[in-house]
Amino acid sequence: MIELNNVSVTYPESDSKALHALNLTFNKGEFVCVLGKSGAGKSTFIRCLNGLQVPTEGEVKVEKQTLTSMSEPELRQIRQHTGMIFQHFNLIPRLSVMQNVLTGLFGRRSSFRNLTGLFTNEEKSAASAAIKNVGLTGFENRRVELLSGGQKQRVGIARALVQQPSVLLGDEPVASLDPGTANQIFTLIRNMHDNLGLLTIINVHDLQLAKKYADRVIALKDGEVIFDGFPDSFGEQAYSE
Ligand code: ADP
Ligand code: ADP
Repeated sequence: MIELNNVSVTYPESDSKALHALNLTFNKGEFVCVLGKSGAGKSTFIRCLNGLQVPTEGEVKVEKQTLTSMSEPELRQIRQHTGMIFQHFNLIPRLSVMQNVLTGLFGRRSSFRNLTGLFTNEEKSAASAAIKNVGLTGFENRRVELLSGGQKQRVGIARALVQQPSVLLGDEPVASLDPGTANQIFTLIRNMHDNLGLLTIINVHDLQLAKKYADRVIALKDGEVIFDGFPDSFGEQAYSE
């Protein structure tokens, strides 16, 4: 489904590579956690998968098509089916839960209509269903700035859900949450993954979360893959060293 061939990223202002010749394949149904310390390359890696970061060398293929050779409409199509969740949620604080979730539908629109009205009843019921799935029924009209961190991430997940994604990407989505809430959010993501048959790839720096929820763990260190396999066979020394 997603394939990386010899992908390297070097940022203009630095001499070392943020990613170093990665060769990886990801298939539908896999739940992958990408582990690594701060600076290991996790963010850069995730951004390569949806075309937000263009590799300096090598290629990323989604459904056998190379991202860099795609036209804007083709790229938009890919992004539309790629849900993203973020460490700092990337919500619009003064807008309601419902309005934030509806922004997930902008990718599938030909023109940008305004946020407050003009959504079809079908779109609104899709958003309500997504809000229900993340357990926020009753909070539709609340401004997201008034929500807790865990609730905000639920809104982020609902926004990804309305896109009807086939791929879900997360860039440290629980790094700002306390451990109990982080577990709740991971449980929610895992259930969504199983129900919808997604490919899910999530960055975490917490080894225990990766072991508990992932089918496959990839560990990055200085932009290189130092482990790729089942969570149970992951040697912790390799990570802590
Ligand atoms: P986090 O890991 O918490 O997301 P980072 O410090 O890795 O935060 O990055 C925050 C932002 O700063 C990102 O957009 C990243 O691309 C950018 N960034 C990180 N390191 C550098 C750097 N050395 N020079 C310039 N920008 C950087
Ligand atoms: P992580 O997400 O694991 O913290 P990043 O992908 O953010 O790692 O960063 C990998 C490396 O690339 C780090 O050394 C970081 O400082 C560097 N880096 C990240 N973003 C930028 C940027 N925009 N400009 C320059 N260097 C960057």
